[in-house]
Amino acid sequence: MNKVILLKNRPVGKPTLGDFEFLEEENPIIQEGQILLKTLYVSVDPYLRGRMSDAKSYVPPFELNKPIHSGVIAEVVESKLSDFAVGDYVSAMLDWKELQVSDGQGLMKVDGKAAPVSAYLGVLGMTGLTAYLGLTEIGKPKSGETVVVSGAAGAVGSVAGQIAKILGCRVIGIAGSDEKTSMLTSKFGFDAAINYKTTSDMQADIANAAPNGVDVYFDNVGGEISDAVLANINQFARVAVCGSISGYNDTEASMGPRVQGILVKNSVLMQGFIVSNYQEKFPQAITQLASWLQEGKLTYAETVVDGFDNIPQAFIDLFEGKNEGKMVVKV
Ligand code: NDP
Repeated sequence: MNKVILLKNRPVGKPTLGDFEFLEEENPIIQEGQILLKTLYVSVDPYLRGRMSDAKSYVPPFELNKPIHSGVIAEVVESKLSDFAVGDYVSAMLDWKELQVSDGQGLMKVDGKAAPVSAYLGVLGMTGLTAYLGLTEIGKPKSGETVVVSGAAGAVGSVAGQIAKILGCRVIGIAGSDEKTSMLTSKFGFDAAINYKTTSDMQADIANAAPNGVDVYFDNVGGEISDAVLANINQFARVAVCGSISGYNDTEASMGPRVQGILVKNSVLMQGFIVSNYQEKFPQAITQLASWLQEGKLTYAETVVDGFDNIPQAFIDLFEGKNEGKMVVKV
């Protein structure tokens, strides 16, 4: 039998296991022009929280009682389609199913010899692209500038910070545990890191770590952390608003300092983005990320959770900060 995970309820506040439903269906059978895909790795990502609610967004919400889908690495286990052979690995937006049928549309072949296939969900996939394109297209860091990254120990943040280092910047990361802050400085080469859960004065800690002020802020979290960064922002700084995970489970809009005064006084550019805005730049960005990886200038961390049944829990754990680097589920 083939296991499937559906969205049962639209979560209110933090998602719970009760919002998901596990089903078993007959194993699918392929027709001419189709392939059978076996799921190897499933990406769980904070943005899926938005798709679980029915608020208007840049992508339509998931439908209730239908399979959830996200980035998946799968192996072709049967083929009646000439472009795909048994044993090929593909990356695509696919359903949370152990096995599924595809006509090849929207599948990208990945090279399991060039990198471990799970890397195509992270540093060589959507989150790596988000880090690279958000930082270079909006942050535009120049050598010698100071860059702050929030959510710094996660999939996007850890790559964004390393790229800023490659570009010659002083880089400060903000994350939620001492293990994470030491990983930022020891493994990823950040110049300084701040644990937002234990600091008594976030704004002062940023000022200490950034004695020349903040020129670029790569914001993954929003909320009070971002208020403290903006209080240290320099004239002509750039703020790339990538995400605001601190508010994804809020049931009411939160109220913070209003930013207009800070932006005007300092001539700051603040821009939100969705990685797909830069689709035409994906091939060039992947080539750059892959070559930095090969040269050893860029590295990555992965938290690999075992077992198809644990996909929902791995997703929920993102909001508890249980991952270092990219959270993936090995099926
Ligand atoms: P991560 O790998 O960073 O995982 C989420 C992390 O967020 C957790 O590990 C946790 O780390 C942190 N976190 C959770 N709750 C809070 C909170 N209340 N306050 C502060 N930090 C919190 O996820 P991604 O790298 O995949 O995504 C990072 C951000 O980028 C998200 O906001 C996501 O939505 C966004 N994103 C945007 C894209 C775009 O196109 N604009 C594309 C991809 C991602 P900690 O222990 O430090 O708290």
